[in-house]
Amino acid sequence: MSEKKVRLNSEWLCDCGGCHVAIVDLHEKMLRVMESIEIQKCPVLTDEKGYPEADIGIVTGAIRTEHDRKAAIEMREKCETIIAFGTCAVYGGFHGAGLAHSREEILNHVYRKSPTTKTDLIPGNSISSLEKMVIPIDEVIDVDLYLPGCPPHARFIFEALSSLVNGTEPRVVQETVCAGCNREMEKSEVTAVRDSHEGIARDDVCFLSQGYICLGSVTLDRCLSPCPSHGIPCTGCAGPTMQILTEPTRDIRTEVSERMSKLTAISYDTIREKMEKSAKTYYAYAMATKMIGQKPTFLVRKWIAESEE
Ligand code: SF4
Ligand code: SF4
Ligand code: SF4
Repeated sequence: MSEKKVRLNSEWLCDCGGCHVAIVDLHEKMLRVMESIEIQKCPVLTDEKGYPEADIGIVTGAIRTEHDRKAAIEMREKCETIIAFGTCAVYGGFHGAGLAHSREEILNHVYRKSPTTKTDLIPGNSISSLEKMVIPIDEVIDVDLYLPGCPPHARFIFEALSSLVNGTEPRVVQETVCAGCNREMEKSEVTAVRDSHEGIARDDVCFLSQGYICLGSVTLDRCLSPCPSHGIPCTGCAGPTMQILTEPTRDIRTEVSERMSKLTAISYDTIREKMEKSAKTYYAYAMATKMIGQKPTFLVRKWIAESEE
């Protein structure tokens, strides 16, 4: 480890704050991090409002407002290495589901007509205006390291920070959530897709075999597979595998439908249609990235409009 401490800034854009809490979740490992890193700016740990020069810049959250864009540019100018930290920064995150609606629909629903959040503070008046759409940070600034996960598990955060401090390449993980799941895929005679609240799923058999849609096989493991291990199907919050992202003919719904139809008596088309109708769930986390949005099969607005008719 270098004797001089590595200077770190972090900034959050449009997000839930969970990624910054995940940094604090390093618990006692935080003490080891602090031996070699000086945290200069971090919304949950320091009161630094400016952007000091830094070696590492962690950016969480997507670009949603004018403020987010300016903050991302400031971070890029002041930090030697930028980490897109968390699914929101890497793929746009769940805010991407907003792409299914127009900017005006969102302003009306959230700011003008909602009985619980009704306010005169329309973005663009006295608070930062909304960008036309949600975008991942690499559409605005150059990114040096991508660390998806919602949030990334503390193990991957520690690995990434340690690698940067030691000047080594961070380990590239290619495993899917299935790799860490103990459920067995087996052929069944299940004839209908079930919603996650329907019935009680066996805890030793793959959700797909039981008729529940689980995105574990198309999702990169950045979490150590907690959901299927605790009885909840994976909704893909860590973002898709590289295979899904980079191969134009592969897509979340087609891959899962193919696998599930082979494991059950449910037809490929039935599963695919169900996933299209619930696209705001199954595509939420990566909808805003061009890698998904530009797939020839991607018609999410159409599917959602039809399902809401
Ligand atoms: S990636 Fe997940 S945990 Fe991190 S800020 Fe976005 S929504 Fe929150
Ligand atoms: S699809 Fe889901 S339940 Fe099945 S093995 Fe993969 S993670 Fe586990
Ligand atoms: S939804 Fe999937 S990717 Fe997200 S934490 Fe659960 S298992 Fe991991």
